[in-house]
Amino acid sequence: MKPVRQQVLGVRCWVLGVGCILGFMFISGCDNSPRLYKESRVMMGTFVEVISPEEKAAGIAFGEIKRIEDLLSKYNQASEVSKLNSAGQLKVSRETYYIIVRSKEFWALSNGAFDITVGPLVELWGFRDKKYYLPLKAEIAQTLKMVGTDKIILNPADNLVKFAVPGMQIDLGAIAKGYAVGCAVRKLRENAIKSCLINAGGQIYCLGSKSGKPWVVAIADPGKKGISGKLRLINKAVSTSGDYEQFFIKDGTRYGHIFDPRTGMPANSGLASVTVVADDSLVADALTTAIFVLGEEKGKSLAEKFPGVKIKIIKERNG
Ligand code: ADP
Ligand code: MG
Repeated sequence: MKPVRQQVLGVRCWVLGVGCILGFMFISGCDNSPRLYKESRVMMGTFVEVISPEEKAAGIAFGEIKRIEDLLSKYNQASEVSKLNSAGQLKVSRETYYIIVRSKEFWALSNGAFDITVGPLVELWGFRDKKYYLPLKAEIAQTLKMVGTDKIILNPADNLVKFAVPGMQIDLGAIAKGYAVGCAVRKLRENAIKSCLINAGGQIYCLGSKSGKPWVVAIADPGKKGISGKLRLINKAVSTSGDYEQFFIKDGTRYGHIFDPRTGMPANSGLASVTVVADDSLVADALTTAIFVLGEEKGKSLAEKFPGVKIKIIKERNG
């Protein structure tokens, strides 16, 4: 792996070299700090990038993210999530069970806005294979019968997960990347890596500092080309959710990939993007999606339940 000189990270957030000219996005070479190694791979349906002064960091992080992807991806037929979705019940591993329990907690705290049972909606609207479709009201009503985290039955004695309604499907797209990044960070710490940045498609963790200074992460501005602000972070997770990347337009209306499980429609709460900074990567990931569905006021109240969490909301310009 080669040390990098030039760098543009991700689509929603960029990591900026401290003190460098924004337009160039140099990650190293602008000051006397040690060179950084950078490697990217397509994993969990997105670009995962790892930047560290330690050459072995990327291998450690990718290994852990791959392990979680194999467990949770709905695109991998052999994953536990795929097996559960096709059988309607499964005794799952301790980790998969843990993610489902945490997802249930976020569902309860968000009054149902965060809901991993959106799988059938994702499918109906064509977001699974990008064959977008505007469903009829009756089709949405029919599909909503298979949606609702309260219809997931859990048995902690043997980690059995069971769907109460046939056809239910869980989709961990709003929480799995956060969990995977958190696992990768734990593995890096176990391996005495003190400085590293992981960006899994807008799901970022800044481990330690960058040559003694905070990592600088820029938040994309959904309405324009450019950035809406910069964050300086040490040992923090930052996550951004929005519907400005995955959406389709039909008859002049935009339909995004984050659903309001209560209506069966793409969320339409007037927000263009939500950024959450938290200590915990899983919390940051789940909260961004929940707040995006809830909108500004209810979203802020939800965030207040998590001490230390900071949020930045960008509203739709025409909304
Ligand atoms: P991204 O995956 O683009 O980072 P999110 O973290 O917000 O964005 O996750 C969005 C994904 O989560 C969707 O593509 C879908 O798979 C799933 N999802 C959609 N709506 C919800 C929801 N209300 N609650 C939980 N998961 C959702
Ligand atoms: Mg999320």
